[in-house]
Amino acid sequence: MTTQLAAPLSIVVPMFNEQENVSPLVERVHDALADYTGAWELLLVDDGSSDATVARIREAREAFGSHVRPIPLTRNFGQTAAMQAGIDLARGEVIVTMDGDLQNDPIDIPRLVDRLLREDLDLVAGWRRDRKDNWLRKVPSWLANRLIRRLTGVNLHDYGCSMKVFRAEVIKGVRLYGEMHRFIPAWLATQTAPSRIAEEVVTHHPRTAGTSKYGLSRTFRVIIDLISVYFFMRFSARPAHFFGLLGTGFGLLGGLGMFYLLIEKILGHDIGDRPLLLVSILFILIGVQMLTTGVLSEMLSRTYYESRDVRTYHLPARFDLAGENDAFRM
Ligand code: UDP
Ligand code: MG
Repeated sequence: MTTQLAAPLSIVVPMFNEQENVSPLVERVHDALADYTGAWELLLVDDGSSDATVARIREAREAFGSHVRPIPLTRNFGQTAAMQAGIDLARGEVIVTMDGDLQNDPIDIPRLVDRLLREDLDLVAGWRRDRKDNWLRKVPSWLANRLIRRLTGVNLHDYGCSMKVFRAEVIKGVRLYGEMHRFIPAWLATQTAPSRIAEEVVTHHPRTAGTSKYGLSRTFRVIIDLISVYFFMRFSARPAHFFGLLGTGFGLLGGLGMFYLLIEKILGHDIGDRPLLLVSILFILIGVQMLTTGVLSEMLSRTYYESRDVRTYHLPARFDLAGENDAFRM
């Protein structure tokens, strides 16, 4: 057997009311990484839990030592924001994201990391080929996967799987919002070559402790996000293209109408109070409006993406980031 490749590794796990899962998770991560030759840290992001999750995380840090890094958020910001917090604070060259409810299995981590390093990839995404969720979850995911596949040209089976391994330098710049964590591969596809993204079948278990934090309302939010991602992918760089296309269409229609009326006029026909006149002028006006809206939204999206202060989470004021984990050396 060839030796496994290793690099400094950060594992990011968002946790919201997962008190029963904290210590088994930490244990399994330690087991899975027992033979890992690189430095590693486990960032347990408490997403404003109201149960004993914070206490369990603190206990885990005491029991297991400095591999465990507790990141307490000030309130519940949602899985995506919690993930963002962990990614921002991660110090590894490779970043793993996964769920904290043991539906993902830490046992898969070394294999995915090895693949990333060996093949020099930017992302190795988990594929829950044998997914242990009900059809209410599986059907919307199936649809979402198809749509994202078509839009991005990145051929993954399972965009929604939380278990993913990234090269830190490419994921560090990501700004996640809404329910967007499932669209990270789509976003990455705009930053890197599709050939640098791969997938790997991972283990998936049913949830055994605690409850799922999501119901139908999330399915709805995901659909809204899908629509925004569609527009994002198609038009984010140039929103003016979208409005410009519409505006030009309207303008052309209006222009054609005016041209027709002009001919009529020249031929000496009475164009008096013809409704077509009104419609043509309206269409030209709409066209101009659309074009200016396009230019405006272009400026707006620039301002948005260039402002680095799009904060989706908050850390406690006296949270000490420095020197809390001296074991993190290669
Ligand atoms: N989660 C979180 N904040 C939230 C909701 C969920 O950090 O507001 C975490 C949760 O603790 C778990 C992961 O996100 O580690 C996935 O959540 P869940 O298992 O409820 O989702 P499902 O597997 O049902 O899609
Ligand atoms: Mg789950």
